Amino acid sequence: MEVRERGPIVAVDGPAGAGKSTVARKMAQRLGFLYLDSGAMYRALALKALQHGIDLRDELALAELLASSEITLLGNGQHEPAVWLDGEDVTALLRTPEVNASVSLVAGFRMVREEMVRRQRRLACGGWVVMDGRDIGTYVLPCADLKFYLTASLEARARRRLNDLIAQGFHPELNVLGEEIRNRDVLDASREVGPLRQAEDAIVIDTTDMEVDRVVDMMVENFRQRVS
Ligand code: C5P
Repeated sequence: MEVRERGPIVAVDGPAGAGKSTVARKMAQRLGFLYLDSGAMYRALALKALQHGIDLRDELALAELLASSEITLLGNGQHEPAVWLDGEDVTALLRTPEVNASVSLVAGFRMVREEMVRRQRRLACGGWVVMDGRDIGTYVLPCADLKFYLTASLEARARRRLNDLIAQGFHPELNVLGEEIRNRDVLDASREVGPLRQAEDAIVIDTTDMEVDRVVDMMVENFRQRVS
């Protein structure tokens, strides 16, 4: 009999706008797990760098900034997930066009990633978590019990981002967003450390024409069959 010393871990990876955070949060809610949004950690650092006027190409300055930053993810599944930065709730500030445009630069540096990955592993080590990101199943938590890789067409992903931003009061153009997502995909997939990559043992779901709840049902079903 296999003896597991920790609770189950679910990893959800995929490119920007594939619907990861929405479905990962809902899945965590259904399972009663903690939801950990690793992208929010990179976003919080990008936000702080922008607020402090740090040069986004200066790896050392970003690593030092991170070392003195407390980033807390709150998300027990029952409430909307919140992100706190140095004791302040910054959730509403993390998805602005400025942060969208800066986050992949910040996330591309080895020193930044090493510290983020350390923190992410610490957060997940007891299990009972769903963590989403780009390199969770391949690098951060290769031991995850279940891995998903979500994809969707570029147009569907740009439309989702458009709706997110409209809900926040911004009015971007669809083709500009498509371009921005494409750039972010290229940066995320081509970097040397922790690139966006599908884990060999990941279950791939193309969410282009799927309702959110259908995707979540599929993921929970997989969890029940393979893990619980
Ligand atoms: O998932 P989200 O779009 O919020 O992630 C924002 C950015 O953070 C990504 O485009 C990527 O550059 C970075 N990221 C990362 N590794 C992760 C999660 C996010 O590099 N595990």
